[in-house]
Amino acid sequence: MLACKPQESWIQFLEFIEKRCSPAEFQNWLAPVRVIDSTNQEIILEVPNIFVREYILENYKEALRSFFPIQTNGELAIQFVINEQKKVPAKNIQRPPPVEKESPLCKLNPFYTFENFIEGPSNQFVKTAACSVASRPGKAFNPLFIHGGVGLGKTHLLHGIGHDIQKNLKKLTVQCITTEAFINDLVQNLKNKSVEKMKNFYRTLDVLIVDDIQFLQNRLSFEEEFCNTFETLINLNKQIVIASDKPPSQLKLSERMIGRMEWGLVAHIDVPELETRVAIIQHKVAQRDFSLPQPVAFFIADRVFHNVRQLEGAINRLNAYYRLTKKEITQEIAEQLLSEMFDHSPRSKISVENILKSVAAVFELRVSDLKGDSRLKEIALARQVAMYLAKELINESLMKIASSFGGKTHSTLLHAWKKISEEVKVSPTLSRQIQMARKNIEG
Ligand code: ADP
Ligand code: MG
Repeated sequence: MLACKPQESWIQFLEFIEKRCSPAEFQNWLAPVRVIDSTNQEIILEVPNIFVREYILENYKEALRSFFPIQTNGELAIQFVINEQKKVPAKNIQRPPPVEKESPLCKLNPFYTFENFIEGPSNQFVKTAACSVASRPGKAFNPLFIHGGVGLGKTHLLHGIGHDIQKNLKKLTVQCITTEAFINDLVQNLKNKSVEKMKNFYRTLDVLIVDDIQFLQNRLSFEEEFCNTFETLINLNKQIVIASDKPPSQLKLSERMIGRMEWGLVAHIDVPELETRVAIIQHKVAQRDFSLPQPVAFFIADRVFHNVRQLEGAINRLNAYYRLTKKEITQEIAEQLLSEMFDHSPRSKISVENILKSVAAVFELRVSDLKGDSRLKEIALARQVAMYLAKELINESLMKIASSFGGKTHSTLLHAWKKISEEVKVSPTLSRQIQMARKNIEG
């Protein structure tokens, strides 16, 4: 449902609403609406008058949120165009002109604050560096260069710095800009013969935050202008923060530029670990005002691990489901809704035999103990941990997995999994032991 294009989503939305409202209501308020444009990010709807728009937003907002994209500011990505002369064909209707920017100072995403950034070992260092720069711009590390893969929170941290400075050091002027926007600004000013004005603007900033500097590669003329601005600011002790998908040394930029970027602190942001991913999931779930049982959060975090943006996509899907059905999200539902997002690749090589060996090693027992029937406390616990890991890591039916444990039943396996899922939340020792075994199993 949510994976389809907005145009198709509109049809599905109508089908959904039609079953839930009277024919008159449908005819009056929904039938006159037409889709006049749509992209994966946004849909433009034509309505005959403002009342239809208000009615739809007031009465169907929840359902709309489940069918259509949500912008990063939490608003629905739907534009309404009012067709006052009904005879004008839809294709003649123009998009409203973009609003002129009053000032080149950027808008920060209100959600990208330090408070909303969840820390873990993968990002603690870079978050601390970002906080230091925000509290002492130009005095801590200059420039601060943050690099890491897509969707790991670089932009979030840059905006976090911007917010923090705007809140606590109100007198400072901050510009947070993408490299693309910087280049566009430069091109525009070249056209308008106002480059000097632009240079003055940038060179009088207190803090310049530049995102996605990799887009400066192969743009020689712009690189020089950027480098000049950079040097002017640094020489005046003004703070520069840069984000990139690669470290400076791997960027195809001039040696001068690379050298400048390596002057300060280069900090790497990594893929968050399982526990951090769970914490991020729970934070984003709370922001969206629904809830997810902790084992289900673990289940998702364990299977969606490439980047946080993907995790957010998963949460949006679950949220949409919850809003439509009001049913609690169970592991089965999460699996159904998200299975194509899950990465199954490493699981295929894992066998029960491997799991038993690793768990036996961590608990200092023999594999035969785990396969046997002994009820000794340590042995029973280790056996349950092996069952828990087998269910987590092997993509097979419970019956098949259980039979590899010396003929246990699938309900024994499920019981073990539930018990350990609960215990791991309250026992740091058990959590560490499981992590050790798991690391070994996954190689
Ligand atoms: P990048 O710029 O590295 O590609 P973004 O900063 O755009 O990534 O992050 C992608 C999404 O993931 C954003 O919505 C951001 O809020 C979220 N995100 C990334 N890391 C974290 C984190 N540690 N805590 C909370 N949200 C995060
Ligand atoms: Mg980014």
